Formats: sequence, structure tokens, C-alpha cells
Amino acid sequence: MTIALTAHDAKKELIVQFCIAYCGILSHHALCGTDTTSKMVSEATGLEIVRFLSGEQGGDQQIAARIACNEIDLLLFFRDPLVPQMPQSDQAQLLRLCDVHNIPVATNIATAEALIHALERGDLDWRNIVHAG
Ligand code: PGA
Repeated sequence: MTIALTAHDAKKELIVQFCIAYCGILSHHALCGTDTTSKMVSEATGLEIVRFLSGEQGGDQQIAARIACNEIDLLLFFRDPLVPQMPQSDQAQLLRLCDVHNIPVATNIATAEALIHALERGDLDWRNIVHAG
């Protein structure tokens, strides 16, 4: 499975802590993410992460393009709910594409934990069937 990581600045430390906690599970999967988020997670965990551009430089769109091509199976996008979301923003489009393509997505740590356990149990293996088909 390929997992994409991104986080708003206020949530970057949280995604780092999450990835440290679940490093063992994450290490069995291909990882990619926006620049700063990937760098921080990679430095803290030693996980190899394909680094895209920063969100505002086009990194969100790079993830979105891969979702549209069915190349990403799970998105962890730790959002800061205190930052107003513009409906036409790249990040809103990213979440819209997850819905279009039925990509499991977590925007907070509670959902991320549920998804990572589901991933570990193999509950998301149907994504492999989608890829094969
Ligand atoms: P970053 O991009 O991980 O490079 O900070 C995400 C964002 O801009 O929200």
C-alpha cells in the first residue's frame, strides 16, 4: 500500500508522534508526503518517504494527482481545524478526490489510529483488489 502524509503546521508535531508510535506498521508500506511533513517524520523515525513539494508549492496537488491515478491507498492529512478552509483550495480538492476515488482518509489522529489498525489487520486489502482490477 502507498500512504500519503501531510499536516498543517500546528499538527506537524502530532503527525511525527503518530508516525513514531506506528513506525513498525508504516515501515511495511510505501510512504510519500509533502516536503516539511515528510522531512520531520523521516528524521524522527528513519522511515523512507518520497518527498513532494510543500503544500502551497504544489505538494497537495502532487498527492491529488496520484490519488486520481489510483497510486495512493491511504491519506493521513492532519488538519488544523482552526485554520479556515477555502472551498476551492488545493487541500479541499485533495479531500474531494479522496471521496471521488474512495480513498480512506484521516484528517485527525483518532481516525488515523482507526485506519492504521485497520491497515495492520488487513481490512484495507480491498485496495489491492482495486489496483489489480
Ligand atoms: P509541508 O506542506 O508538509 O511542506 O508543510 C503541507 C502544508 O503546506 O500544509
